[in-house]
Amino acid sequence: MTSEPARPTVGFIGLGSMGSGMTRNLQQAGYALVVNDVRKEAAEQLLAAGARWGETAAEVAAASDLVITMLPTPRHVAEVVTGPGGILAGIRDGGTWIDMSTSVPEVADQVRAEQAHRGLRILDAPVSGMSVGAAKGTLQIFVGGDAQDVARVRPVLEAMGDPERILHVGAHGAGYAVKLMINQLWFSHLVATAEVLSVGVKAGVDLAVLRDALVASPANSTFVERDVLSVLRDGDYDEGFAIALACKDLGLSVDLARAVGVPAEVSALVEQVYRRARASYGDRAGEMTPLRLYEDLIGRDLRL
Ligand code: NAD
Repeated sequence: MTSEPARPTVGFIGLGSMGSGMTRNLQQAGYALVVNDVRKEAAEQLLAAGARWGETAAEVAAASDLVITMLPTPRHVAEVVTGPGGILAGIRDGGTWIDMSTSVPEVADQVRAEQAHRGLRILDAPVSGMSVGAAKGTLQIFVGGDAQDVARVRPVLEAMGDPERILHVGAHGAGYAVKLMINQLWFSHLVATAEVLSVGVKAGVDLAVLRDALVASPANSTFVERDVLSVLRDGDYDEGFAIALACKDLGLSVDLARAVGVPAEVSALVEQVYRRARASYGDRAGEMTPLRLYEDLIGRDLRL
């Protein structure tokens, strides 16, 4: 008789738009959870369904076999990992930390360098797929780190993502880099599309005709074909992903370009448009709000 290998207990810190769906899926897949967030109320449903609460990140790490962070920015990641009561204060030697935040490698690099004697296993595994994908368990996941570690944690990742789209993209930091480049290109598509639709409509072309022509043309993209429809059809600017976080991603992306010495004029411009939209509509406005800047400019909503 073969017995199922025991499932690791998963520690999870950051139960926001993304983490809430991801933890629900882990729980439904049968993983025991130990969770923490600065907003305890975010854990209510998980606790009711059997998850345990950790008062600190250290407590979460000490009580779990692997610990996942899903936090807004590199600053939050640093605080939760290396700060007082942080993961490093609780994780056992040889323990595993997976950062699924959209972030940069500095914190993990520092931990690897300063804690080398502890044999910690660290992976970066940021995701795409929006809060809807987090809720459905269909996230795309880009993993950077050692192949044996990726293979070992794959079942846990598969509880949150689409198994076909969980990609080991390279060494430590490669996951963060791939994720930032994806977001950069998607935000660039958004701004370029907003500009083109606004100019075309202002020039007298019917919006639906213009979009159909774009979709049938070599200029088509999944943004024009699919993603823009949430605004054009439903007026939904995706508040599941706050523009403050989009600006964070764009800033990190421009920083990365600077760090590797590649001029990135388009990325820098897109970042400025996003910052203007954030200044105009507030931190919590949705990631697609730059479209509104153009709608305001031409004095009408872009709706089919
Ligand atoms: P969010 O702001 O909704 O959630 C973050 C959570 O972290 C919040 O619940 C917050 O209370 C908690 N938190 C902050 N500081 C903490 C601390 N010190 N200790 C414990 N908990 C703390 O953000 P989100 O939209 O879930 O995004 C999380 C990450 O995923 C970000 O890096 C974001 O860029 C990335 N991401 C988001 C989306 C999306 O559509 N929302 C998609 C892909 C990737």
